Amino acid sequence: MNSSKGSVTIIGAGIIGLCSAYYLHKAGFKVTLLEQGDLINNCSSGNAGMIVPSHFVPLAAPGMISKGIKWMFDSKSPFYVKPSLNPALISWGLKFWKYATEKHLAASAAPLRDLHLLSKQLYEDLAKEPKLEFGLEKKGILMLYKTKAVGDEEIHLALTAQKLGLDVEPLTAAQTQDLEPDTNLAVLGSVHYKCDAHLSPSDLVQQLISYLKAEGVAIETNCKVTSFETVNGKIEGIVTPNKTYLADLVVMTGGSWLPEIAKKAEMNIPVMPGKGYSFMADTNGHQIHHPSLLLEARVAVTPMNGQIRFGGTMEIAPMNDKINMNRVEGIVNSIPNYYLDYQVPVPQIDKIWYGFRPCSPDGLPYIGFSKKLNNLIVAGGHGMMGVSLAPATGKLVAQLAQGEQLATDISMYSAERFN
Ligand SMILES: Cc1cc2nc3c(=O)[nH]c(=O)nc-3n(C[C@H](O)[C@H](O)[C@H](O)COP(=O)(O)OP(=O)(O)OC[C@H]3O[C@@H](n4cnc5c(N)ncnc54)[C@H](O)[C@@H]3O)c2cc1C
Repeated sequence: MNSSKGSVTIIGAGIIGLCSAYYLHKAGFKVTLLEQGDLINNCSSGNAGMIVPSHFVPLAAPGMISKGIKWMFDSKSPFYVKPSLNPALISWGLKFWKYATEKHLAASAAPLRDLHLLSKQLYEDLAKEPKLEFGLEKKGILMLYKTKAVGDEEIHLALTAQKLGLDVEPLTAAQTQDLEPDTNLAVLGSVHYKCDAHLSPSDLVQQLISYLKAEGVAIETNCKVTSFETVNGKIEGIVTPNKTYLADLVVMTGGSWLPEIAKKAEMNIPVMPGKGYSFMADTNGHQIHHPSLLLEARVAVTPMNGQIRFGGTMEIAPMNDKINMNRVEGIVNSIPNYYLDYQVPVPQIDKIWYGFRPCSPDGLPYIGFSKKLNNLIVAGGHGMMGVSLAPATGKLVAQLAQGEQLATDISMYSAERFN
């Protein structure tokens, strides 16, 4: 192994940490990954696995505040902010409100598009690695709608997407049905984002872990970073209960735990967990061929390893391990409204996966060197797009580490933008 470039310790082995490890290792760094858990209890395996240039609109978008308030009174709603006097939530909410504007959307659209497209290209390269097989498919994603109001909104968005150069086509109900010959749809129409793709996130994570281990990357599990030793604006030691790790460079990921880790480095990086659920269901002979978003219900549908993964809901609240069956039922009940052949039973509680999307208040990720600690790179806050943006983030981290020209502009993603 060539490690002439120095050593890097990455905190967190979710998809952002794993992709950062991949590109840093490829660039010749000696990489160690520190993971507080067992590589399973994070947000990166049970998600919908969609690669989404279509998501050039950040979560903090016009209309989200009014929708959020309306949905707060519906226990089965897809988006929910738990009313609370938690200071972190109040501060996050005020920032979200400030950024939910047309101006922010306009400023974010092209940078987000570029980051997603870079990732998609990198996923195509990753899929060519003989040891990485994660079910990448480039069929696009269908945005299915049932009502005229939502259809009008989506077609308007499709026109913006086309202006941004994305391959997008509005379809009639009949054209949509032609794409799904094995199941009966009940929709008014759809928008086909041909630019999107999907993969199996659990295969991706498992294969990356195996690949990195085989390449000699150290992955330490049950190894929680509890503090840092800093000297003259530099991290000298990364402290865990059993050992203090030394490294030339530190990459701080950590998903929804990022604020907690950042605090140990005396940094304020706002992230709120956006809890979502998913479960697998059988096709019973009614194969769904395209990943789809059920727009009114905000449910994601992904064909995966012969089954279908259904996922959704966004509960913005401090982390907890409770499974809210009302919201899971909200997902289940919406399915036959779009797919007439699918009467999916409510899954048993042990078959329900949940994860915490690491949501920044402005809906943009944090990628870049810290201004305070000069050997620290932050990579987090990817919200509902972490899988889609992971290879681009990892590549940018490796480019930052080498002082190389960056593949895309990251000026909007500063980790200290809310200080
Ligand atoms: C229902 C659902 C569907 C989704 N669908 C999609 C999709 O289709 N496409 C998409 O792009 N995204 C999707 N997402 C979002 C995506 O899953 C996340 O953005 C992504 O997984 C975040 O990755 P991460 O590495 O930042 O965080 P995580 O996966 O949470 O990993 C962070 C890791 O850091 C570790 N850690 C934390 N603190 C410490 C510490 N002190 N020391 C050591 N380790 C630590 C944690 O244990 C964890 O393993 C979905 C999410 C949900 C919930």
